[in-house]
Amino acid sequence: HDLAHFRSILSRPDRSIITTLTDEASQRQLSSDSRAEELVRYNQDWTGEYRGSSSLVLRPTNTSEVSSILRYCHENFIGVVPQGGNTGLCGGATPLHDEVIISLEGMNTIYGIDGQSGILTCDAGAILENLHSFANERGYLFPLDIGAKGSCQIGGNVSTNAGGQYFFRFGGLHGTVMGLEVVLPDGRVMHLNMENVDDYGTIQQSKRIASHRKDNTGYDLKHLFIGAEGTIGMITKVSIACPALPTSKNVSLLVCDSYCNVLTVLKTAKEELGEIMSAFELMDYNTLSFVFAHGFGGNESGSRLLHDLLQSESSIQEPERLRPLYLLVETQGSNSVDDASKMDTFLTRLLDSETIINGFLAQDERQLKEMWTIRESCNPCVAQAGCVYKFDVSIPIEDYMEVAWEVKKELSVSMKDVDLIACVWGHVNDGNAHINIVTPGRFKKESAIDKNIEAAVFDSVLKRSGSISAEHGLGQKKNEALGRIKGENVLDVMAQIKGLFDPHGIMNPGKYLPKKT
Ligand code: FAD
Repeated sequence: HDLAHFRSILSRPDRSIITTLTDEASQRQLSSDSRAEELVRYNQDWTGEYRGSSSLVLRPTNTSEVSSILRYCHENFIGVVPQGGNTGLCGGATPLHDEVIISLEGMNTIYGIDGQSGILTCDAGAILENLHSFANERGYLFPLDIGAKGSCQIGGNVSTNAGGQYFFRFGGLHGTVMGLEVVLPDGRVMHLNMENVDDYGTIQQSKRIASHRKDNTGYDLKHLFIGAEGTIGMITKVSIACPALPTSKNVSLLVCDSYCNVLTVLKTAKEELGEIMSAFELMDYNTLSFVFAHGFGGNESGSRLLHDLLQSESSIQEPERLRPLYLLVETQGSNSVDDASKMDTFLTRLLDSETIINGFLAQDERQLKEMWTIRESCNPCVAQAGCVYKFDVSIPIEDYMEVAWEVKKELSVSMKDVDLIACVWGHVNDGNAHINIVTPGRFKKESAIDKNIEAAVFDSVLKRSGSISAEHGLGQKKNEALGRIKGENVLDVMAQIKGLFDPHGIMNPGKYLPKKT
């Protein structure tokens, strides 16, 4: 009955519905086996840790279809899971049970970029990398960049309030998102500082789509949807302010033999590179060793560079805190001569003061890309090294490496039978560390190990007044921990907001908020 209804409201039902449920019409489609096979990728998350059992994926092609689907689910108390590119790292886009998955992959139009304000407007299903190309070709830089850009969608990025390497330079999505179109669980459509683009038909590049930078007319509701992880509605369109494309870019890879020296590099970078510094990324020795060992996706010269990096002071082995740390420092500016001279002064100061033990400066676009490929290979390569217990935390910058080292030390006593390797990388200037504890050779998550590691990491982060989720969000991985870190009043108001928007509790059930006790 439900399937027949969904078939009636979708304009291209044969392409927009993937299901193992059968009705007369679906029996004419794929064989049941191939439908089940197709469903797997929607039911499984990127880490392989979470798996749902949804038998119905809907792929609407416009806002009005999203609205009809949600209204029906709201009226009939059917749980739904919004899904973007399915690259989230907290199981937020994976059903807990058999909820209906609403995938936005069929909604990916880029409407245009306003030539004066640089505000780009697109469907929520637009792939991040496509938005980069679209903006670059028109002289703009898309202000969000993350390793998953080839498959994540802007709607998923906004819903997780994704951070990434340009966070400190361009600000987070709360600053750059100008307008949103959202569909509420009961099917109502809200335009939040955004015109109804659907009224326009095809938009020309020169056409101005109004999304103002400043709008002080009441509660700014769009902020509630940034980071809401699909719990109060679905984002269907996004407009976002893009800065002008920088005309000069420099990237260097530096090697430090202590974290204390990393802090000196950061201070020197702020003094010498100032406003042109666009990324300051850290990778530790264990991480780069895994990148080297597990199929670094770059070419031969990239592998040579990686090899040279790992050779720097290879005589230093133990203890862990004495192993080298690697920094990727990028500048983006508008004057190649001035920018190169600033980078040169910066590197000379570091070498003269022996703050770094080695350094490589990209000589051309190819080397620049190789350096970024090394950084972006951290997540996928460490994932191949064994079972990975992933944490994404915010900590005071001075303690950036301290949490991983402390946890490793504590666990090597309390779990001495388990071989554990701590890997750290991340956006050090934001105090955002991706701490990955790897059990080499064991590929299945063990809940006793998981609990011990999580307790050790959370204790270490919270005693430093840090955050247990810096940029990945909560999903089904960290929702229960919220009860521990938010005050009772904060949790109550969060639950009231959820109840106001989604009184039937259909949106992403069992995620984000802790279960009621
Ligand atoms: P999904 O995973 O599909 O969904 C994420 C959440 O948003 C779910 O709760 C889902 O229900 C909800 N959702 C999705 N689309 C919508 C919508 N249109 N409306 C309402 N709710 C929706 N994250 C960072 O912040 N910084 C990084 O540097 C970073 N690097 C990464 C590198 C790799 C290799 C990988 C695999 C992941 C990385 N991530 C990073 C995590 C992930 O890519 C981000 O969380 C991303 O924003 C998720 O986008 P997505 O489209 O894949 O969303």
